[in-house]
Amino acid sequence: MASPDPSKGGPSLPTKLVQKFDLDGHDLPPSPASSSPRNGRKYALATELVYTEHNDQYNSSSVPIYQSATFKQTLSGGGEEYDYTRSGNPTRTHLERHLAKIMNASRALVVSSGMGALDVITRLLKPGDEVVTGLDVYGGTNRLLTYLGKNGGIIVHHIDTTNAECVRDTITDKTAMVLLETPTNPLMQVVDIATIASYARAKNPSAIIAVDNTMLSPMLQNPLDLGADIHYESGTKYLSGHHDLMAGVIAVNDSALGERLYFTINASGCALSPFDSWLLLRGIKTLSVRMEKQQSNTMRIAQFLESHGFRVRYPGLKSHPQYELFHKMARGAGAVLAFETGDIKLSERIVESARLWAISVSFGCVNSLISMPCRMSHASIDPKTRAERNMPEDIIRLCVGIEDAEDLIDDLQRALVQAGAVRVSLDGLQALRIEDGHTVGEAEGAGFGAAASSSS
Ligand SMILES: *Cc1c(COP(=O)(O)O)cnc(C)c1O
Repeated sequence: MASPDPSKGGPSLPTKLVQKFDLDGHDLPPSPASSSPRNGRKYALATELVYTEHNDQYNSSSVPIYQSATFKQTLSGGGEEYDYTRSGNPTRTHLERHLAKIMNASRALVVSSGMGALDVITRLLKPGDEVVTGLDVYGGTNRLLTYLGKNGGIIVHHIDTTNAECVRDTITDKTAMVLLETPTNPLMQVVDIATIASYARAKNPSAIIAVDNTMLSPMLQNPLDLGADIHYESGTKYLSGHHDLMAGVIAVNDSALGERLYFTINASGCALSPFDSWLLLRGIKTLSVRMEKQQSNTMRIAQFLESHGFRVRYPGLKSHPQYELFHKMARGAGAVLAFETGDIKLSERIVESARLWAISVSFGCVNSLISMPCRMSHASIDPKTRAERNMPEDIIRLCVGIEDAEDLIDDLQRALVQAGAVRVSLDGLQALRIEDGHTVGEAEGAGFGAAASSSS
């Protein structure tokens, strides 16, 4: 029965929807209908991304935006599906079902931002609980965990999550959550979700494994299939693809866990608005074509930089030290890469010389972005902590869009020349090795693992 007083909260609405919802299409699903084909067949992801069914009374092609805070009810409580948009809204429900399908989950929930998603997830924790997480986590994640450590009585262990044994040894009976991000950003370190999940299950079966999948999106990696309990990500990035909305998505296969998360969303009122739900649904339809083009552009740019002597971090390159592990988990290398120049001032000149590449935080957008994480997205992590976590201050991050690859490379090349990062000769370009602002020779080694890097 729908909760007559939404301020009392209560998860009645989605429970009912989940029970009525039959992937095989046997029950007539409530309006809006399931996002899956009625024949129950599972298609390839590129097809599922664009395929949605809903039973709008006018047969609209696009899912309607139910821009309504309230829905009329009957006093007899005759099974109305919606009463109040904080608790449930048809446009949002449609998006959540579509996402559940794409994220290989039984239930997906959408909230107002990626950080909003992590806020909902961390409300599963109680004072005294311990969280095991990585060193190179997203700046906002670091900020929220630091806050919870100071004010929420949560004990946060930042450890090297690229070392699964190290994670195993840190997990105790007090560990309530293992929070992983892979690949990390901007260091592009890869975390072995499956191995860590199996260690965690063995050491503390009640620990929840949550994975931030923002860097790859469900197009390229499905953490739930690898053993995670919670797959969450920022919908602001690849899922939306246009930097015109903010959203966070959470997906689970355990219905009790889904209910607990839904309770917090309804209680705190952070669910995604109907309009943004509609906009995100629209973005998701082009995820596959965007990602394919973004990845092929990224690969060309990574090869361009590496072949000219820069130390490039990109899991699509064989030089990535965790290339094998990465490709065991993911179906593609994504569209973010980082490279080092050896000199902060030089990196600043490169970033400022780029024209086509907009200086901006974030990624996943159709247009290409360039940034210096230590000055921008990771500036909320203090310099001492950044140094402890081996974050090179000169690192430049490229978030590649869908533009013409030649144009992107031309613009980058011009910026490298203008900034004095390369020597131009008849043989072409060669990265210079710069220390303390002085050119000391040509960079010798390319690749992530190369010892020649002079970065500190
Ligand atoms: C952007 C981002 C977030 C936060 O998402 P918002 O939508 O900006 O709140 C979390 N994790 C990662 C890896 C991100 O890149």
